[in-house]
Amino acid sequence: MLDKQPAIGRFAPSPTGPLHLGSIYTALAGFLQARSQQGLWLLRIDDLDSPRNVKGSADSILKTLEAFGLYWDGDVYYQSRHIDIYNDVISDLQTNKLVYPCTCSRKTLTAGDRGQSQSDVYPGICRERQTLPDVPYALRIKADKRIITFQDKLQGPVSHNLAEQDGDFIVKRKDRIIAYQFAVVIDDDLQHVNQIVRGFDLLDETPKQMYLQQLLGFHTPGYMHVPVIVDEQGYKLSKQTQAMAVGLTSPHRVIFELLALLKQNPPIELQQAPVSELLSWAVEHWNPDVLKNAHAVSCDF
Ligand code: GLU
Ligand code: ZN
Repeated sequence: MLDKQPAIGRFAPSPTGPLHLGSIYTALAGFLQARSQQGLWLLRIDDLDSPRNVKGSADSILKTLEAFGLYWDGDVYYQSRHIDIYNDVISDLQTNKLVYPCTCSRKTLTAGDRGQSQSDVYPGICRERQTLPDVPYALRIKADKRIITFQDKLQGPVSHNLAEQDGDFIVKRKDRIIAYQFAVVIDDDLQHVNQIVRGFDLLDETPKQMYLQQLLGFHTPGYMHVPVIVDEQGYKLSKQTQAMAVGLTSPHRVIFELLALLKQNPPIELQQAPVSELLSWAVEHWNPDVLKNAHAVSCDF
């Protein structure tokens, strides 16, 4: 008999600024999902997109999580320390002719079919190229015709036609930066993540990641895409919409509100309770099913 694997979840913020409320919401959901199964909750800093990184924000993210009582297990995993690993896997794919160089620019790609299609599916222009270009190029992975299906724990069944909905997608950008899609798959495998909790906005990225897992022979984790927090106008809270960087002065109030937004109905008696007490209650009572099919929840504070 095989022992049941412990649940291993992770939170993977990008260090592009202080954690905003929407990220803390996702972090809290992932934390509760892992802890309610006595599982591990890992922290990964998605810091590969160096031009977008903001100095000091990785540290500020760690401090914020601590202030909110969202303690992670083990060492923080920084993607930027694993670049060799990503490149090694890409070299193998190159050897196996599963990736190819692409010199297309956004401009050339949109010029061809102006007005005809809304999609950004790559038309495969560079697929048959035989020589290495002498100008900067991206690397694309060949997407085949497979249909990717999975059952999201909240969003239900997803079925995705890779060739028609994504086409060959980029695994290494023209500026030599490893694409998020690619790194995340390697990291989840390296860290033995078996349950991914993240925002609904990433649901559409999942099939590409599952395709890579299948090509690389990795285990596919379970997925739970939780709603994103939107403001009264229906916009996702983010730095772009100038969402507030959450103040650290009253974490218990924020956690209480976020539990309400996770539809967990925290008891009013706990409104003044310290974060640790609130979180123990939440771990014990965690019921994600109430978020089924929710894409967004709106926040008015
Ligand atoms: N760094 C990604 C983001 O902030 C999260 C990626 C993931 O959870 O897969 O959107
Ligand atoms: Zn191309």
